[in-house]
Amino acid sequence: MKKNIQIAIEITDILMEAHLKNSRGIRDLVKDWTSDTKGLGIAIASTHEDVAKCLFVIKKYLEEKPKCRHPKKMRDKCEGQIYCMQCNTDLE
Ligand SMILES: [Zn+2]
Repeated sequence: MKKNIQIAIEITDILMEAHLKNSRGIRDLVKDWTSDTKGLGIAIASTHEDVAKCLFVIKKYLEEKPKCRHPKKMRDKCEGQIYCMQCNTDLE
């Protein structure tokens, strides 16, 4: 079974790709637009890029290994996974 954190990382990947695709699409589309509407199109594309950047930061946080500073004697093993009995963090 997938861990929730892995699912969250996959969702951020899908959303990031969707926003970047929208951004590229809009930037391509506005090439033929008049200067009045072009600014709006570029602003929309920029918003998609900003959301993608935020998702990238969120993904980096999700990928960070959790820190456990409890003593080794607090470790136990459940279904092959070593974890800390104090903070419930999966280790190794
Ligand atoms: Zn711990």
